[in-house]
Amino acid sequence: MNFIVQKYGGSSVADLERVRHVAYRIREYLEQGHQLVVVVSAMGKTTDQLLHMAFEVHPRPPERELDMLLATGEQISVSLLSITLDSLGINSISLTGGQAGIITSDFYTRAKILRIHSDRIRSHLSEGKVVIVAGFQGKTSNEDITTLGRGGSDATACALAAALHADYCEIFTDVSGVFTADPRIVPHAHKINRVSYDEMAEMASLGARVLQLRAVDFSQKYGVRVHVRSSFNKE
Ligand code: ADP
Ligand code: ASP
Ligand code: MG
Repeated sequence: MNFIVQKYGGSSVADLERVRHVAYRIREYLEQGHQLVVVVSAMGKTTDQLLHMAFEVHPRPPERELDMLLATGEQISVSLLSITLDSLGINSISLTGGQAGIITSDFYTRAKILRIHSDRIRSHLSEGKVVIVAGFQGKTSNEDITTLGRGGSDATACALAAALHADYCEIFTDVSGVFTADPRIVPHAHKINRVSYDEMAEMASLGARVLQLRAVDFSQKYGVRVHVRSSFNKE
């Protein structure tokens, strides 16, 4: 039995069928006796669509309001996943970043996680629930909603894994691991079985989207083991 923080990216929850697929995978982990905290990104291109709408009505939208808007994307996916799990008879609860105790700076649109009050998550876990946390967001000490920068759900997952002392963090995405280059662009890229934090940080800073740089930094600082996997196969 392991205690795992899992993160499912936008493509892994792009439509209801994929949300169901994620729910089945969660059920398999529970059947194997694991305990789970699950971080979810917004469905498919939702964040891009929300951004597009804001820029349709304003050339430079106020950043606090952008964060109010963008954070709604993840609220849709966590609640839908929790509802789907309930339909399978699985007890879960969805939480916004703020409800999950993620406290950030007030640097809107690129806020930094300052601390995590994990008591609420721990208490739901002890009730036997799967805790589903909205990625990419937190709240300031003044209760304002913030977001963590594009790709920020990775940071949510790695920071939660550190704060909760998870055995490891699993990042489920649309490629089956970290490759020597973007496998969608470089056909000969091959999968790297193990990569150090320093090498991963370098790749992330050069634009490898697969793991956000801040997520790598958190993992290195707190010694979180990170597994990158595809949500479309069992590799
Ligand atoms: P998610 O929505 O699951 O967070 P992202 O689109 O943010 O997924 O990241 C996964 C994408 O990262 C892959 O589809 C791939 O095109 C890209 N990518 C870039 N560089 C790499 C790399 N070195 N290894 C694996 N994937 C990479
Ligand atoms: N939904 C956010 C984004 O598109 C966060 C994430 O996907 O990690 O950047
Ligand atoms: Mg991403």
